[in-house]
Amino acid sequence: MRHIAIVGSGPAGYYTAEAALKQWGDEVHVDIFDTLPVPFGLIRTGVAPDHQSIKAVARRYENTALTRNVRFVGNVMLGRDLSVAELRELYDAVVLATGAPSDRKLGLPGEDLPGVFGSAAFVGWYNGHPQFAGLHPPVGHDTAVIVGNGNVALDVARILAKSEDELAGSDIVAHALATLHESKVRRIVILGRRGPHQIAMTPKELGELAKLERAHPVVDAADLPPADADGALDTGLRKSLGLLRAFAGNRNPRADDVTVEFDFFAAPRAILGDGQVEGVEVERTRLENGKAVGTGETYRIPAGLVIACIGYQTSPIPEVPYDDEGGRFANSEGRIAPGLYCVGWARRGPTGTIGTNRPDGFAIVEKIAADIPGDSGKPGRPGFDALAEARGIQVVRFTDWQKIDEAEVAAARDGAPREKFVEVGKMIEATGRA
Ligand code: NAP
Repeated sequence: MRHIAIVGSGPAGYYTAEAALKQWGDEVHVDIFDTLPVPFGLIRTGVAPDHQSIKAVARRYENTALTRNVRFVGNVMLGRDLSVAELRELYDAVVLATGAPSDRKLGLPGEDLPGVFGSAAFVGWYNGHPQFAGLHPPVGHDTAVIVGNGNVALDVARILAKSEDELAGSDIVAHALATLHESKVRRIVILGRRGPHQIAMTPKELGELAKLERAHPVVDAADLPPADADGALDTGLRKSLGLLRAFAGNRNPRADDVTVEFDFFAAPRAILGDGQVEGVEVERTRLENGKAVGTGETYRIPAGLVIACIGYQTSPIPEVPYDDEGGRFANSEGRIAPGLYCVGWARRGPTGTIGTNRPDGFAIVEKIAADIPGDSGKPGRPGFDALAEARGIQVVRFTDWQKIDEAEVAAARDGAPREKFVEVGKMIEATGRA
């Protein structure tokens, strides 16, 4: 029997478990740990609430979770409840699948002013992550600025721009829906420090902006390179450019629309405000060898809310070597130290789609199989259970999660798939074991 601990129950964690089952069948026990009492990580708290079809992938993870050899071990935090060293004593292999849940910093003056958020915090807020449920983003000003030209910037812009009706079928949490109902934001400015050819937005996500009920995208045609330059781009980016060109051609917006304005060649230089954010100072840029270089021309965008969607980083764990520059665990193809591995965003940084994590999971299991060819005699599950009991750790199992799930589905407002619990205590209460 091989004993594998996976830390993190998001896509990378469950794909790794699936791969371990394929590799060893009944000869493996996999325990999937999570800090929260609820599984699926990014699927629950990262994927946009109006992208329910993407969230449906959780059903595949559920199949893995319900096999006899896989356990969900929720409400257990590495570094608080037990250490990495202890986990390594108990299991043949410990795989860190903790994702990249922390915001990268802009590194600008004023960034700590109230009203400035990173996307992990802001997305976590509207998705009901307990850590960010109390965020209270200010929505009383007519302008919000989003920094970054990736898909998360699009998610955030879309959620801010949608009407209440458009959010009805989503699982956005009640506190966010109530705040957005009060929102005075009519202008959403998306700052890209480089140009249209350098965006990291994909066409499906960009195209959604054109279908909004009461909002429309705005692109300044002067920012677009000559159309024949698009030919050299890869297919996805070429499609995205086609969309930006169509946005630039739309000159007849309805007067009361919310605008989603693309401000390209625009690098934020300072967040302005006295006691709370009042605007952003921006420097016009030009491209030099693919890099954004300041031109010296600056301007100010008055705004009451700033959200930096500039990428994420893995949260460090005591005792685990960390690559500061890459914002992930220091590793060689997923190997950190004997018996200690990482996978997914914790291995390679926050890039790619959810599906990219599947081959990642299979690759790490191949490495574990090569490194640990036989039974190493470690205690595995019974060893952890004894330690959890001795420490009074209140472990939440997958069957407990199913009760939480049922309660969330039962509490859904009309047309919505669920109303999430946003407090750990309430989640545990719903298991009936509080
Ligand atoms: P991302 O794709 O890496 O985009 C980050 C953006 O921030 C880039 O445009 C980058 O510009 C900009 N940026 C970085 N540092 C900056 C700074 N200091 N000042 C100004 N701009 C800065 O990251 P993401 O949007 O967080 O997405 C993470 C991953 O999740 C991606 O793989 C994404 O495709 C995926 N995702 C997918 C979906 C979906 O499929 N529906 C939804 C959400 C996220 P430069 O290029 O100039 O560095």
